[in-house]
Amino acid sequence: MTIKVETVDRLDAVDNKRPRKPTPQVCETARDETDHDAMLVPAQAATTRNSLYENVLAQFDKAADIMQLDPNIRKILASTENEIVAHFPVKMNNNEVEMFTGYRVQHNDALGPFKGGLRYHPQLDIDEARALAAWMTFKCALAGIPFGGAKGGVQIDPSKYSVTELERITRRFVFALGDNIGPEYDIPAPDMNTNAQIMAWILDTYLSTMPPHERQRNIHVVTGKPVAAGGSVGRDKATGQGVVYCIEKWAQDRKLSLNDATFILQGFGNVGSWVARLLTKLGAKLIAVSDVTGGTRNRDGIDPDDLLRYVKVHGGVLKYPGGEFVDNIMFMQTAANIFVPAAMENQITGESARWLNVDLVAEAANGPTDPDGDAILQQRKIDVIPDILCNAGGVIVSYFEWLQNKRSEFWDLEEVDFKLQKKIMSAYGNVRDKARELGIDRRTAAFVLALERLERTYKDRGIFP
Ligand code: NAD
Repeated sequence: MTIKVETVDRLDAVDNKRPRKPTPQVCETARDETDHDAMLVPAQAATTRNSLYENVLAQFDKAADIMQLDPNIRKILASTENEIVAHFPVKMNNNEVEMFTGYRVQHNDALGPFKGGLRYHPQLDIDEARALAAWMTFKCALAGIPFGGAKGGVQIDPSKYSVTELERITRRFVFALGDNIGPEYDIPAPDMNTNAQIMAWILDTYLSTMPPHERQRNIHVVTGKPVAAGGSVGRDKATGQGVVYCIEKWAQDRKLSLNDATFILQGFGNVGSWVARLLTKLGAKLIAVSDVTGGTRNRDGIDPDDLLRYVKVHGGVLKYPGGEFVDNIMFMQTAANIFVPAAMENQITGESARWLNVDLVAEAANGPTDPDGDAILQQRKIDVIPDILCNAGGVIVSYFEWLQNKRSEFWDLEEVDFKLQKKIMSAYGNVRDKARELGIDRRTAAFVLALERLERTYKDRGIFP
């Protein structure tokens, strides 16, 4: 049985000035393809917007057919469980009120509490939240951690707001979500354009609305918090670290030395910048980077620490003096061993997959490859470490943070990294072996493993009533 919940902000529900049941929000915000200056990297420009959720379902269906998933369980997993759309008002610095739309889609909680990030992005809509929530279910199942899948966020361009406005938007969104999140129910985390500071505001708002004696034992309502506010050491770099562990394993299997390897990177935010720093520490050379502002390339190598300092000052990689400008096509055509997409979804399409000149695509982003792109990568025999495996380090260390909070423990970085490596390497080996055993691609193998675990759980527990 699936339930669709449409909520409005609790204050609105109290003063009842707006309809209690808003029209279902399938806010198809037009993808603005015109605001990319011709000089910038139009990473999205060539991409027509497929339904991202349909992409997930295509991946799911392929795996479900292969492993002959029970048709009843298939119906459950092909649907989301709850979809929360909240419209909420926030007073801006100029004293005017602006209305915002926030989403939280809870896809499935058969394996444990709903878990997944919150993103702040102008293109976030219900379809994207559904897709990202579903991937979380399969990611947690594959990683063997006791969480379900959820995702959400606010449909905004955070660069247009001051820090104090962002704080009020965050707090008001959390208030609107009310009991739809909770430490044993649904646990948010950082994603695109959200960070430890935003998680701290979420924590503080959630706890402030609880009775004082309940506060301390609820700090695991959110993960990715600053360490001083109950976060785990190593969470900040965890997604990037997990990506690098996977790449190391791939290189080992292929008998390649990362010391001689080159890589190109799309996205230089939390995940991308950590991948860059950790992979160069292993001897690999970063030769091209693109982000929302543009692209830069230097075949002699780009120093990620230097680039990070530049990005902090200038807001992006455009005009970085340590490289030459490249547009999106030039960026993607750069010959290298590894391409790490660490930005948006649908970047590797039927068209752009043909531009790539690499041996491996390590999917740090969620959904960077659409089904057409996937087919071309397979045809061209380019290896793929699929997103639900490659970027699972973030949710794995979120699980460690959640456990530490519950047990009032504090693990050191060595312990966190060791446990992360063990978990993600085990998932990597399982995916590789399943792909070999069934003669299928690694993405489908990852889905098969996730579905096997979910199916076992449903079969053991049965379907109520
Ligand atoms: P972030 O906001 O820190 O960084 C995003 C980066 O992508 C920025 O450099 C931005 O400029 C770039 N970008 C945005 N739009 C772009 C475009 N159209 N073309 C090229 N670059 C573009 O976000 P993040 O946390 O690093 O997340 C990146 C990806 O990794 C997302 O797909 C996210 O869902 C996924 N992910 C993140 C985590 C995590 O722990 N943060 C965990 C798992 C997966």
